[in-house]
Amino acid sequence: MAGSEMPGGAMELRSSGMPEGLTMHYSTPALLVIALLAVLVVGRIIRSPEAPGRMAFGLAAVASVWWIAMVVLRLNSEELPDKVLFSRLAWFGIIATPLFWSAGFLDHAGFSQVTRRLPIALMLAFSGLAGFAALTDGYHHWIYTGIVNAERPSFSHGWLFYVLLGGMYLFMLLACLMSISQLKRASRLHRRQMVALLVATCVPWGGNAAFHLFGFRLFNDDPTPFAFSATVLAVLFAHHRGKLFIAPPIARDVIFSILPDPIVVLEPSGLVLEMNPAAEKLTGFSKETVGTKLPPSHPLIAFVARDTTNEARKPIVHFEAMQKIFEVSIKPLEQWGRQGNVMIVLRDVTAREAAQKDLSDAGQALKLRLEENLRLQEQLEQQAFHDHLTGLFNRRHASTVIPPLLSRARESAPVSLIIVDLDYFKQVNDRYGHDVGDKVLATFARILSESLHGPEMAFRYGGEEFLVVLPATSRESALERCAQWRHELAIRTVAELEGVALSFSAGIAIAPEAGTALADCAKAADIALYRSKISGRNKDTVWGEHLEGMVREGPDQKGSADGKQRPLAPAGRKIALP
Ligand code: GH3
Ligand code: MG
Ligand code: MG
Repeated sequence: MAGSEMPGGAMELRSSGMPEGLTMHYSTPALLVIALLAVLVVGRIIRSPEAPGRMAFGLAAVASVWWIAMVVLRLNSEELPDKVLFSRLAWFGIIATPLFWSAGFLDHAGFSQVTRRLPIALMLAFSGLAGFAALTDGYHHWIYTGIVNAERPSFSHGWLFYVLLGGMYLFMLLACLMSISQLKRASRLHRRQMVALLVATCVPWGGNAAFHLFGFRLFNDDPTPFAFSATVLAVLFAHHRGKLFIAPPIARDVIFSILPDPIVVLEPSGLVLEMNPAAEKLTGFSKETVGTKLPPSHPLIAFVARDTTNEARKPIVHFEAMQKIFEVSIKPLEQWGRQGNVMIVLRDVTAREAAQKDLSDAGQALKLRLEENLRLQEQLEQQAFHDHLTGLFNRRHASTVIPPLLSRARESAPVSLIIVDLDYFKQVNDRYGHDVGDKVLATFARILSESLHGPEMAFRYGGEEFLVVLPATSRESALERCAQWRHELAIRTVAELEGVALSFSAGIAIAPEAGTALADCAKAADIALYRSKISGRNKDTVWGEHLEGMVREGPDQKGSADGKQRPLAPAGRKIALP
């Protein structure tokens, strides 16, 4: 025990210490300047807009002014009882200053609960009780147990002193740590504010610790009140350069609460740790969802173990019951105490998805329509150039494609133009029906088209008349081709015409001998065909060659093939001469 007690709260001087002197002269003005600055801080705070920590910092500044004032009064007191009284009175400030300071710090760092009415009232009551305990210390000696230096004076301490000091240190440590935990996510401006506040906290705290633990003194006294100069300067700096109390770090929390996008923080187990009001509207969520587990079937559970930070295309989640579609952003939380947890931010993309679907549907419909158009166009082209019964090119197409072939005809590379006319075809229709006639036409068309090579083409030229153009084909080859078709026609007849011998007559024009214009060659082939007809049918005639020698006859119809086939009767048929 460093001092001895005196009844009634007074204390007996044990060591007289230093004589009165220069210390008082130097420290008093310094302390007064600090107190003045603290008052300035209070003034600033009062004029500042409502901001986190504002009230608690203001109360801390007022308490520190009280503390400094008591120190000044103590330093300037002559009598020991006065000094002791002011030492005791200082306790209101000694406790209130760090309490309110730490509360302000926590509030500024986002832990706003500490500056609600009840905690502030409790802090006031606690400071009051500590001050009351100091004032009544003489009766119980919980704070001071004796005086070790009458000059300052300094005391030996009781249990409450250590409890209060330890409590203050712990509270301040907590405030500093919680504030530091927020540093990472703070913007530059708010980080500057926080660092200034940390300095403002640590300097007097360090001074106080140095005084109590190592007996460090300034002006032969506790350096804590002097260290408040750093506090007020740091606050003024933070206010001036860091917009303390003007640009509070609350915007992020406000953004979180007002954001229309639902935000949910989930533990890997599906436990909801945090959510914003927008998330309350999600299926399976309500105001009470925080602290409860989502069922494994909940759509968000699938995203708990996923990180979409680097995914180019964000996943989509359907909330069927809400009839909404959300785009999901998942961010793993690595801050303290958040290991393995994820923040899920949902963006309502229902309208966008619907628009995209409409667009895609419209695109699909357009594609189908385009394909249909192309098909129709192809069909039209087919119809425009083809004969629908035989599938061969039609006469119109012949006038387009044959002239260029004929114009290139040379003696060395002759082009054969052949008109083929089925013999007695009218009788097929008359005897066996029009449908059978159609089948014969289709069959013969197939015979022609199957025999074509390369640039060769066959056309339906009239009812039962066909035009065949064979580039690079000599008269011998043309006659061979006719013979081949005739053979095919004889063996490949239609079922209804079993036993009936079908034949054709052909007129062949060879370009350039017969001309290189379609009209000339067609006319020549027609004349040759006519020759074939009048010379008995089932014959091929090359235009320009002497009729007798040049008409090639097909197999004799009467004695044709196996002798079983009956020729179509030529009887009674008249062929008009030109
Ligand atoms: P010829 O040996 O002199 O050529 O006698 P033909 O009976 O073959 O000639 P004609 O000109 O007297 O008759 C041609 C017949 O072809 C008349 C017509 O009914 C028939 N015909 C024309 N086009 C078609 C068709 O698309 N289908 C059918 N089934 N018959 C057709
Ligand atoms: Mg005819
Ligand atoms: Mg005919």
